[in-house]
Amino acid sequence: MPDLPPPTLRLTIDTDALAQNWRSLDAMSGTARAGAAVKANCYGLGVDTCVPILRDAGARDFFVAHWSEVPPVLRHVPPDQVAVLHGVVTREEADFARAMGVLPVIDSLRQAEIWQAAGGGPCHLMVDTGINRLGIRPDEARSDAIRALDIHALLSHLACADEDSAMNTSQLHAFESVRERIPHRIASLANSAGIALGANYHYDLTRPGLALYGGIPRPELRDTIRQVARPEARLIAVRKLERGDTVGYNALFTAPDAMRIGIVSLGYADGILRSWGDAVFTHDGTDLPILGRISMDMIALDLGKAPELGEGDWVALPYDLPEAASRTGLSQYELLTLLGNRFERALT
Ligand SMILES: *Cc1c(COP(=O)(O)O)cnc(C)c1O
Repeated sequence: MPDLPPPTLRLTIDTDALAQNWRSLDAMSGTARAGAAVKANCYGLGVDTCVPILRDAGARDFFVAHWSEVPPVLRHVPPDQVAVLHGVVTREEADFARAMGVLPVIDSLRQAEIWQAAGGGPCHLMVDTGINRLGIRPDEARSDAIRALDIHALLSHLACADEDSAMNTSQLHAFESVRERIPHRIASLANSAGIALGANYHYDLTRPGLALYGGIPRPELRDTIRQVARPEARLIAVRKLERGDTVGYNALFTAPDAMRIGIVSLGYADGILRSWGDAVFTHDGTDLPILGRISMDMIALDLGKAPELGEGDWVALPYDLPEAASRTGLSQYELLTLLGNRFERALT
């Protein structure tokens, strides 16, 4: 088979911005060091692209969610720097962790027993301080299964760090009291937003994810965090509409006059969902509004303000994340992780 021709979608990763974001979050973490959440294929941006950059910037603590995410990360960093947040749900997962030398995050008494039965060894422990997803309850701290563990990092996760919520302080207090009751070497509470909550939340290790990749979960991070992901699409067709012509699924747009439109091949599989209707593509600062409904693999753009654009030219998706989140009704997490694998990854 000949080489594939280059795709009409490209996702440029600003490697400088990614490295700088890690360094900024590490500096903001004060005496704590920053790790890196690299689950979900580095929030959609690509493990093979992002993990080496985070490693070279200085990160030494990498977090994934699933065991299936371990092998790609191990191409770039040693196993004792990788932890699996979902822990050991089965004996097979515990055996795999031990064989690979990767640390599980123990998330329940049952997981603690599975880990010990498989032979145990160093692990992290998640304590639930109110988010009610994973983690032992504080009143389980002194149980035999937990006492038997060799706990490296004691973790908890904040539910509302991106808001000024009373829950932040209540989780902080719950974490404080459980810390005294469980032997551990280091403690870790803050995600990206938690880093901006201040020194009380930093402990020994912070675990930023979203903000590494350009997400801005709190206004305090606005001037520090730089955009990392820049998706672009090529116009695969340009056409003229007459007054009264309609565009796309369900004919939701009707041309008020003769106009030029461009088609990009982009849609649901690329994370561009119907809720994107009010978003505005751009070319060199010129706005190119979306016309009609986002259809399966196709989006029509108004080229009224860009007469110079023709077939084959590149246009930019609106990926200022806070702004895109408010226009699409999607969270910044979703906007990143939904970007599919039809984009060719390019580095700057
Ligand atoms: C995903 C995750 C993080 C990173 O959170 P962000 O909000 O993306 O910074 C940190 N810790 C745990 C346990 C996580 O699941």
